[in-house]
Amino acid sequence: MADDMERAREEKKPGTLFLCATPIGNLGDMTYRAVRILGEVPLIAAEDTRRTRQLLTHFGLSTRLVSYHEHNKDEKGPRLIEWLLSGNDLACVSDAGLPGIADPGSQLAADAIAEGICVVPIPGANAALSALIASGLDTTRFSFVGFLPRTKEKKRECLAEISGRKDTLIFYEAPHRLGETMKAILGALGDRPAVLARELTKKFEEFRRGNLSELLAWCEENQLRGEFVIVVSGAEESRKTSTESPPEDAAAIVRRLTADGMAKKEAIRETAKRTGLSRRDVYQAVLEAEGK
Ligand code: SAM
Repeated sequence: MADDMERAREEKKPGTLFLCATPIGNLGDMTYRAVRILGEVPLIAAEDTRRTRQLLTHFGLSTRLVSYHEHNKDEKGPRLIEWLLSGNDLACVSDAGLPGIADPGSQLAADAIAEGICVVPIPGANAALSALIASGLDTTRFSFVGFLPRTKEKKRECLAEISGRKDTLIFYEAPHRLGETMKAILGALGDRPAVLARELTKKFEEFRRGNLSELLAWCEENQLRGEFVIVVSGAEESRKTSTESPPEDAAAIVRRLTADGMAKKEAIRETAKRTGLSRRDVYQAVLEAEGK
């Protein structure tokens, strides 16, 4: 890298940063243009070099790789900018999908733009948009939320901030946190229509549709494997958020559970677990719904 940089620095014309999409599961989703660019650039900044090496090998490429990820971006970023400023092209790829979308890449793009370097997107697969277009929910306006913060407090704050949006909401989540996150979303947004898109573009691709409470029940009853996108309907005038109307949502869940044969006390306990409300609030909601 050092020799090439010195040679190119003499020419002074900056190289181009290509933000290059890679498949989210199905290798058939690699674009011709992505293969060409990854073969033409002298260096690829990859989130996981081993994974990208496998991808390159599949397409008969042997381009040099350098690791660039969340934990080394502060150290590697300036060196990559220097490489570009010296006249060398660079491609940036993440493990899957679009770099910069819940993945490294956006900082590098911002730094490159600040230095007057040309940034070129090479579009392709993306989990959020793939889930959205097949969700059956409104696609005219949507908000990409990505991964919610990990701590309960921050998660609640973030959900409170977006609970009134009319846009369809798109979340990413890892399978081992999916149940907990679904519970938090249901508790904050109310029992809205939603879709769980699993293993997009892969052999076991699956779309589960229903209200959030039904999807949460499915999460709790099944061993969750694979990758998931959660797509949730936006707020509507007619459907107030749960912070405004938890009673109706909770009462509806209790009604459904008791209709399925569960004892009322157990149904209240289960509903509290699913919605994050206290048992007392659920009980109160049931009383209100029954007009007592
Ligand atoms: N940059 C990627 C993109 O453009 O979609 C997203 C990377 S982010 C680190 C990984 C998350 O994206 C996963 O936890 C999951 O929520 C979602 N995801 C990625 N691939 C997926 C797939 N094949 N099916 C469903 N969700 C997927």
